[in-house]
Amino acid sequence: MSEPITHLSTELIHHDYQPPAGFDAVSVGVYKASTVIFPNVAALRARDWRYKFGYTYGLHGTPTTFTLEERLATLEGGTHCALAPSGLAAIATVNVALLRRGDEVLLPDNVYGPSREMARTLLADWGVTHRLYDPLDVAAFAAMLNEHTKLVWLEAPGSITMEFPDLRALVRAARARGVLTALDNTWGAGLAFKAFDLGDGLAVDLSMHALTKYPSGGGDVLMGSVVTRDEKLHHQLLLAHMRLGTGVAGNDAEFVLRSLPSLELRYRAHDQSARRVAQWLQRQPMITQVLHPALPGSPGHDHWAALCRDAAGLFSVLIDPALPAARIDAFVDALRRFKLGYSWGGPVSLVVPYDLKALRGDAARLTGHLVRFSIGLEATDDLIEDLDQAFQTLR
Ligand SMILES: *Cc1c(COP(=O)(O)O)cnc(C)c1O
Repeated sequence: MSEPITHLSTELIHHDYQPPAGFDAVSVGVYKASTVIFPNVAALRARDWRYKFGYTYGLHGTPTTFTLEERLATLEGGTHCALAPSGLAAIATVNVALLRRGDEVLLPDNVYGPSREMARTLLADWGVTHRLYDPLDVAAFAAMLNEHTKLVWLEAPGSITMEFPDLRALVRAARARGVLTALDNTWGAGLAFKAFDLGDGLAVDLSMHALTKYPSGGGDVLMGSVVTRDEKLHHQLLLAHMRLGTGVAGNDAEFVLRSLPSLELRYRAHDQSARRVAQWLQRQPMITQVLHPALPGSPGHDHWAALCRDAAGLFSVLIDPALPAARIDAFVDALRRFKLGYSWGGPVSLVVPYDLKALRGDAARLTGHLVRFSIGLEATDDLIEDLDQAFQTLR
């Protein structure tokens, strides 16, 4: 103890503490702070929150979040990473960083729903327009690019309807017009393909990832990230992060750090199980189509095959449109192992019925009742057995 105790409350606050030297644990320590103490005024003035050579304020990073950022940049093949408190907050960070009044952003028409909602409401209010493009029609996409287009969002595959685009061709077309590309890489998770090395020298500019899904893996933590190889873009993201005040909690960062070592194993396990379930579903008479990019016949399968070997444990099915909607709801309600709930990437298998018409303007290309499945880590046979018993409601 450096000074004699005067008041207990002061002593409890200023009690001597040094992080244990020589405590080389395998896990990363959980550091939490709003305040970070500077040794003197010169240090306070010298440190800049945008750079990682010193800590300034908890919102701008701790040893725990800096470590997580470095590992995520490695995972995705980028050099810089910015965290956000959810996947959607990461999308907002990109939009706020890069879009200004008068700009246009293009979204695939199978974009993650809340991203489209953000464009339709907030971005519109701020004078940023958006248009939806068909991710499977590169020529039409290229024709939409104009002098106002500042950003293109990409998804491979798109949400819910799972079409896998020709990512290389879309990036090439955007590049040719000098338009920035941001990929929602949640499905690929940095494993199915390399967003910064797509072949032919092509790379996206930004890779956004809902860490809520596979990197968390527990169905319990919400977080997002944006990785880039461009320091200038990274600083634009950090400015947006600072202006929005979107920090992440140390304990949440800890959970993701703890899950990352098993990410690849889990991703493969989800993939293998999902493909078996999807193939079983393909053989069921009332299923008219299984939308899984790794299955031949699924929209964009060839593009998936040209870029990937792996896939996530996520797919949708289309059920015979002749069946009344109430029967589909009864089928979903009859499932026991599959739980009814949003999100994916956790240990528990999930199911959600979606209204195809409300979801997609161009729904004409697909018909039937759409049900999306996220395959968890249960034994595959148990999942198939569950589907089989629930199918009694449709037979
Ligand atoms: C879940 C998801 C998000 C958003 O992540 P949250 O952490 O739930 O906000 C974004 N994009 C895709 C493709 C997702 O599946």
